[in-house]
Amino acid sequence: MIRNTSQTRSKACLEKGEIACTSCGRPMPGGRGKVCEECYWTANFLKRVRINQAAFTNPQMSVSFGDYGEWLIRTVGPHRAALLIHRHLPFFLEVERTWRDFTTYEDLVHHFGGEGLRRVRLPMRWLMEARGIRPESETREAESERRRIESIMSTVRQGTAAGKVLAAYRSELTKRIDSGDIAVKSVRLALRAAASLLLATDTSGERLPEQKDVERYLAESPGQRAALIGFLTFLRRSHGVDLVAIVDRTRQRSMRRRKLEREIIRLVKCRDESEEWLLRWIIVGLEYFHGRKFGKHAIRLDMVRKEAKGLIVTMEGAYGDYWIPTGEWNPGSLDLIGGDAMTDEPSIQPQDCEEQTIGEISQIVCASTCG
Ligand SMILES: [Zn+2]
Repeated sequence: MIRNTSQTRSKACLEKGEIACTSCGRPMPGGRGKVCEECYWTANFLKRVRINQAAFTNPQMSVSFGDYGEWLIRTVGPHRAALLIHRHLPFFLEVERTWRDFTTYEDLVHHFGGEGLRRVRLPMRWLMEARGIRPESETREAESERRRIESIMSTVRQGTAAGKVLAAYRSELTKRIDSGDIAVKSVRLALRAAASLLLATDTSGERLPEQKDVERYLAESPGQRAALIGFLTFLRRSHGVDLVAIVDRTRQRSMRRRKLEREIIRLVKCRDESEEWLLRWIIVGLEYFHGRKFGKHAIRLDMVRKEAKGLIVTMEGAYGDYWIPTGEWNPGSLDLIGGDAMTDEPSIQPQDCEEQTIGEISQIVCASTCG
């Protein structure tokens, strides 16, 4: 096909204006000739694919090459596809020569090398998308993600209101995996947050979340906020329910205190002499009694000294000293920390153990302060 030069085209354009492409019928500049640019490159591309297909001896490979061609033109458009298709032929021919047909990803890497495969990025993408040929580790990872997703789905009863919503959300997310928007892992995290909210709302799955359920859930699991936003958007779009991912700070604090209390009770009951126990106790104690949150790497044993009635933790920098109880039920029975005769008052008192120091917590504090 002879293409017009831009000069003759613009002259022709002026004279002829817009005409219809003889192939697809869409309007195009009059000076272009008979077919539009897209049709020109599509025809050109198809011709190249047909010529290349004749190079294979295995008919199956020739069909595969045709499949690849269809994928390529869809993915990069006719112009680029026409320019690229010749370049990818040697890769297909080499595969045919070596294995007769496509083989595993591991075989391909072994033969072409990582660098070699990077040069045929588009054919590799096609192999991955259309033929599922991908690194085994990736396959394993994808499979285990899929299993995790199944187990999340199974936590909410199928056929219930919640089960239906979750299934619909999953199919929407799956579409986004297929179009390459998101990874399987993100889907799993989003589904886990959605399922947890649905379960926290109603274990039987009959009732769908309302704003108060969202707030209660987020107060207990504030870290889930980001993962939940997608689900709330989905609910708004699909069910017209307007829910906001608000974290209620007051409720969050009281939830956190209850969680810390449970942890304190657990620690006291499972007390052992290990360093690990002591560090955990200190971290929980600093947060519960002083509202100071430290990571486990911020605490070392040399920052801790025992006093008559408790432990003094000296934090580095401007943080200062903090008193916490020893965490014993029976002072005296353990001499790793505390447990000496009660003499002096603790130099630093817990600042924040008013209303919740009832029940077991007060006994724990008492066990170490009152003897
Ligand atoms: Zn056309």
